[in-house]
Amino acid sequence: MVRLRNVGGLPYGCAVDPEYLPAGAGFGPTADPPLTLSPSRAGDFMTCPLLYRFRVIDKIPEPPTPATARGTLVHAVLERLFDHPAPMRTPQAAHGLITPEWDRLSAENPDLAALFADDSERQVWFREASAAVDGYFTLEDPRRLEPAERECYVETELGSGLRLRGYIDRLDMTPAGDIRIVDYKTGRVPREAYEASALFQMKFYALVIWRLRGVIPRVLQLMYLSDGEVLRYSPDEADLLATQRKLEALWEAIGKARSTGDWRARPSRLCDWCRHKALCPAWGGTLPPLPERRPAEAAPAQAG
Ligand code: SF4
Repeated sequence: MVRLRNVGGLPYGCAVDPEYLPAGAGFGPTADPPLTLSPSRAGDFMTCPLLYRFRVIDKIPEPPTPATARGTLVHAVLERLFDHPAPMRTPQAAHGLITPEWDRLSAENPDLAALFADDSERQVWFREASAAVDGYFTLEDPRRLEPAERECYVETELGSGLRLRGYIDRLDMTPAGDIRIVDYKTGRVPREAYEASALFQMKFYALVIWRLRGVIPRVLQLMYLSDGEVLRYSPDEADLLATQRKLEALWEAIGKARSTGDWRARPSRLCDWCRHKALCPAWGGTLPPLPERRPAEAAPAQAG
């Protein structure tokens, strides 16, 4: 993977983005079936099967945190920014979207509105969100590219019957049909040892796009807005076939856990961020009983 750090010179996008001009047809939204695999949930199971259970089987709600809310707001601002004509996609325009997008999001989700104890907490949080938006402009110039898709829902079914789905932050496409998958991150850039797991999500999307369009995306681009760093990777067919094999093995393992009810806790450093630690036996908690399974969930091919 290529790791690029912006040190204050020209935005990276200037070098490559003129290629990514008006693009082809959209994927269009499709229904969201209940038993499919998304990159986040695949990542959960790989991290800890019990975490997957809490999220997918028990469906224990996870109210937003300041960090997740910041990601939601920044993604919304960057999506809306491209509604503007190209010359108007300036930092000022982006900053002008922060409050209206926050108002819209918090009207849709009262948990967001209730996040902050007081005004000073709210102000600090807004400054962090604004800094992430500013960070975006150090990485590329949105006046010089025209996304093909934003926040696009993609879904495909593999030959094995495994259904993959997810939302891609942005797809860019050259006139020649080369595809770039872009994902915005408001968290910290991973240390090199964890790059593979950051990249897994992108390979997942690349596999879906390959299956849908018959084209292997040329570039997978992770943009770490707060750290001013971009990770880029060019996948090949062998990469995506390996990703498919990994996902199918994972799906089988999820199916086995569903049928046996054996959702193992896998403690790690990530437990410090787990929202369900209080229920986790690895940390002295008591598991809630498994919810009753519906007939559709009992089918071996439907693993989550
Ligand atoms: S606390 Fe750790 S081991 Fe327990 S469910 Fe969460 S991630 Fe898994």
